[in-house]
Amino acid sequence: MDFRKDPRVAIDPPDIAPHQSGAAGIPFVQVLEGDADGPTAMISAVVHGNELCGAIILDELLRCRFRPAKGRLFLAFMNVEAYEGFSCRTPEGSRFADEDFNRVWTEDRLDGPGDSIELRRARAIRPLLHEVDYLLDLHSTSSYSAPMSLTGLSERSLDLAQALGAPAAIVQDAGHVEGRRMRDYTPFAGAGPGPTSLLVECGQHWQRATVDCARDITRRFLRHLGMLKGAVPPAPRQMVLQVTDVVTVVTHNFTFAADFQGLESIDRAGTRIAMDGDRPILTPYDNCVLIMPTHGAAPGQTAVRLAREIPRS
Ligand SMILES: [Zn+2]
Repeated sequence: MDFRKDPRVAIDPPDIAPHQSGAAGIPFVQVLEGDADGPTAMISAVVHGNELCGAIILDELLRCRFRPAKGRLFLAFMNVEAYEGFSCRTPEGSRFADEDFNRVWTEDRLDGPGDSIELRRARAIRPLLHEVDYLLDLHSTSSYSAPMSLTGLSERSLDLAQALGAPAAIVQDAGHVEGRRMRDYTPFAGAGPGPTSLLVECGQHWQRATVDCARDITRRFLRHLGMLKGAVPPAPRQMVLQVTDVVTVVTHNFTFAADFQGLESIDRAGTRIAMDGDRPILTPYDNCVLIMPTHGAAPGQTAVRLAREIPRS
């Protein structure tokens, strides 16, 4: 046993070197062609280099030589540079190389003069995102939260999350002020019909259950698109949570009132959930749900988002 391994890391990153070259012509992007006409889809992994579940699922699909029943399927390892720096001893360290790959998806950044490892990779991937009808973006979180879909404000994305039937929690969030996510890149934005993206946070980064969730969601996605035959397990009741507030850290002394992990529902409005210096952070309404609390966030960073369940047919 390696005692220097971080005890939270229960899974190993697969060797993705065998998946480097393929017909897509972009390193670490594979394309699988179906026998019949159908949609073009992409499943993306390691947008953040230390989120292993997606890499494990794509590696499984490629090693078992999965072939979609119809359509065309891209399997894309995104931030490979960061992923290859993953260490079981310092697993937090490889989220990105130069900057967050999931904050560069505006035309200003992609067409601008900036340069970084992530921008170069995003520019290489970008044309493919104009080809896909459906994108499933597999992620994981630092906290031990139950899995959730993050749909953004797109109705198409919400419809897809509900069509998949899992995970149970669907979160409508407006994204990040620091930069646009790949999920929100132009082809996937806007109202009405069009390409559809969905980001799923499958659980804590390095837990086996997180890989199980990613595998289940992938099956549901492929099944929904007609690329995979067979039934999927019964779905749980889903709830749609709309983010209403973002709590941004102000002082260097921000502490939560409990060891929140995410998706806790706080019964009463006015309940103190954190202190930011001497300012209490209170829930603004009854049955307020905490989304992705970040313990140890620095001033200017998001500590937690607050959401309420909205009725949905
Ligand atoms: Zn992520």
